Amino acid sequence: MDDVIVVGAGPTGLTTAVELARRGVPVRVLDGLDGPHRGSRGKGMQPRTLELLDQLGVADRLVSLGSFDLPFRHHEADGSVRDEERNADLVGSVVDPTTPWRGSLVIPQWRTEQVLRERLAEEGVDVSYGVRLRSLQQDDEGVDLELDDGSHLRSAWVIGADGGSSTVRRELGVGFLGETHEEVRLLLGDAEIDGLDRDHWHMWAAQGPLVGRGAVFFALCPLPATETWQIQIAHTDPDRHASPELLTELVEALGPRVRVRRVTTASDWRLNVRMVDDYRVGRVLLAGDAAHVHSPAGGMGMNTGIGDAVNLGWKLAAVVHGADPVLLDSYTDERLPVAAHVLGLSGELTGRQVFSRTAEQIRDTRGLGITYRTVPDGPGPVAGDRAPDAPLRDDSTLFLRRRAADWTVLAFGGPTAAPSDLPGGGPVQVLDADALAADGTLREAYGAADGTVVVIRPDGYVWSRVEAAVPA
Ligand SMILES: Cc1cc2nc3c(=O)[nH]c(=O)nc-3n(C[C@H](O)[C@H](O)[C@H](O)COP(=O)(O)OP(=O)(O)OC[C@H]3O[C@@H](n4cnc5c(N)ncnc54)[C@H](O)[C@@H]3O)c2cc1C
Repeated sequence: MDDVIVVGAGPTGLTTAVELARRGVPVRVLDGLDGPHRGSRGKGMQPRTLELLDQLGVADRLVSLGSFDLPFRHHEADGSVRDEERNADLVGSVVDPTTPWRGSLVIPQWRTEQVLRERLAEEGVDVSYGVRLRSLQQDDEGVDLELDDGSHLRSAWVIGADGGSSTVRRELGVGFLGETHEEVRLLLGDAEIDGLDRDHWHMWAAQGPLVGRGAVFFALCPLPATETWQIQIAHTDPDRHASPELLTELVEALGPRVRVRRVTTASDWRLNVRMVDDYRVGRVLLAGDAAHVHSPAGGMGMNTGIGDAVNLGWKLAAVVHGADPVLLDSYTDERLPVAAHVLGLSGELTGRQVFSRTAEQIRDTRGLGITYRTVPDGPGPVAGDRAPDAPLRDDSTLFLRRRAADWTVLAFGGPTAAPSDLPGGGPVQVLDADALAADGTLREAYGAADGTVVVIRPDGYVWSRVEAAVPA
């Protein structure tokens, strides 16, 4: 019997698997596809996701393969163009040492998955492709999985990270409440295209060469560190389907110099806005698109899935290592409201021109404000809040230092002992905050005084905060 089987090797399943494997939990990852996805799908990686993935040691690699600087170029009806910074509110603003990444990174989803697969392989785990789950049944001790070839696997826990049409969710009988919007459709594809500059993310609203061709919005985004572009064409015609020929025809109609060399993927998409009302049934947990789907507007789907994975990974690892499974209840409690918020926000952004988004909506999409707080405000981050970064001596940072252990205890104004009631028995480091701080940023970011002790959870949120702790 395996400890954990993860069904689905998209970004959610891969991140969950890394989180488990790096904590010594034997994990197996299945995917029904013959090999990795080739489509660029979720290409906007939000800064909070980079922070979460930084703890897995892959943020720098992702940043090196993506781009923060890809301004929008709006093509107007009269042939003129208007450029707009993607992270306009950040241009010229002062660097913030508590937040290493502040804008969204453009990177194709297949690349993010590749980096996560490579990280997983470092833990000795390879994805089993061509292995499709057909059904599952659970009892008190474990879960039986029946595969498409009729064979069976058994594991103590199962993660359903198998996307919007999740088999795991269906087998659990968990409802997927919401709506399908037949009228909001996209033709999607990746292609090699000549005749457009790769320094901008090009957009056309319903005008010019598109009028009469059924498209209401057209976006071509050059994918960094590749030769390809992502094509997104919004339309309302249920009889129109993506094919290399149709994508080529529509793209080439944009201008006489625009030529498609090769279409590498072509698919149809229509808007579903749905979510589950529970992420866990016994020994089976849902994560990512299996638990919530919504509009790509604002670029939050993959990011929310990775957020689920990082929230769940350490908790399930702790339970496998002996913690009370009640810890897993906090997974639904914390992540379900985040999904509900994202469904609402992406709904507000759907169909709105990029430039008409408010500054608050843009900030919201970045994920830096996500909190699991259930306690009143304090002088600094309290239980459930994001634990900010800060510079430490020797050119280090708190985020880098946090990688050394699951739990980090920041003691201000003198030493303290590690709390004895942290779940799961993962490694704990107690840091003498004042001795390590490079400057006043750490104290300020945590609103700390002498005697403040902040315990940071393995997923980068505050676990507890105590003022005027008695020195050890
Ligand atoms: C046009 C477009 C643009 C987008 N842009 C963004 C963006 O900018 N930012 C963002 O965050 N998100 C974006 N998204 C959303 C993002 O692509 C998804 O949210 C993301 O793929 C969800 O990841 P996941 O791992 O949960 O599921 P998936 O990526 O769907 O992975 C699920 C995996 O499970 C496997 N599977 C399914 N059933 C079975 C089974 N029975 N047995 C075994 N394996 C199975 C599948 O083969 C698949 O590999 C966009 C989506 C689209 C379509």
